[in-house]
Amino acid sequence: MVATIAAVSACAANTVSGLSGPISSSDHSESPTGDQQPDALHQVAAVEPVIFVSIDDGHHPSQEALEVVREHQMPVSLFLNEDPMKYHSSYFEEYTAMGIHVRTHTQTHADLTQHRFDDQQQEICGMVETLEDRFSDDVVGSSLRAPYGASDETTQEAASTSGIGSIPHWSGEANNGTVTLAHGESCRPGDITLTHFTQTLPEDLQAIQDKGRRRIHHRPFHSLSSSSRGPRLVEGPGLDHRE
Ligand SMILES: [Zn+2]
Repeated sequence: MVATIAAVSACAANTVSGLSGPISSSDHSESPTGDQQPDALHQVAAVEPVIFVSIDDGHHPSQEALEVVREHQMPVSLFLNEDPMKYHSSYFEEYTAMGIHVRTHTQTHADLTQHRFDDQQQEICGMVETLEDRFSDDVVGSSLRAPYGASDETTQEAASTSGIGSIPHWSGEANNGTVTLAHGESCRPGDITLTHFTQTLPEDLQAIQDKGRRRIHHRPFHSLSSSSRGPRLVEGPGLDHRE
């Protein structure tokens, strides 16, 4: 995935009615058996002024960040690793209680491209099982954030065995309170912004919020999902989407 913000007004709108259009995919593939494998998404093809906000890893459970999410009702998406998820599970429960989804970021934050199928499958699907053991199934999303954004065809094959429908990358990042987009200064509809559970997460989330000046609407990945997991709040494709 991917990201930057050039003309905030380009993404601005007072109302959001939904998304339409196909998912942008860089390396969609089909297995020899004809099964569709997860899309590697960099951006959601959206015509509405919405962006997606993801928070990765989970090492620094910031109460202040949680308050920012609550205050702005930001439908963030969490991609978690096993150890921080277990250490701070009650913290993440604060998010799932708001309907926010948790997703696999592998067990150990492994560079999946350095591993063979069995190990990739364990990293990806083992984390899905851990999430499902700790949280209710309806808040465990069906997409994978590959650590370092590194995935290959084996990743797609391994992920598909646990129902993973997409492998979202990002089109922008927020670090140290600053939002940086890959394609310019203003956001584009469907941008996916990457943040992490770090000490600056509250500032990072606030920076994303300020970028839109209340006019960029955030959407949870699952709101666009046709996956059986989670509520389907609006029609259209999303990051969990799998056909
Ligand atoms: Zn990570």
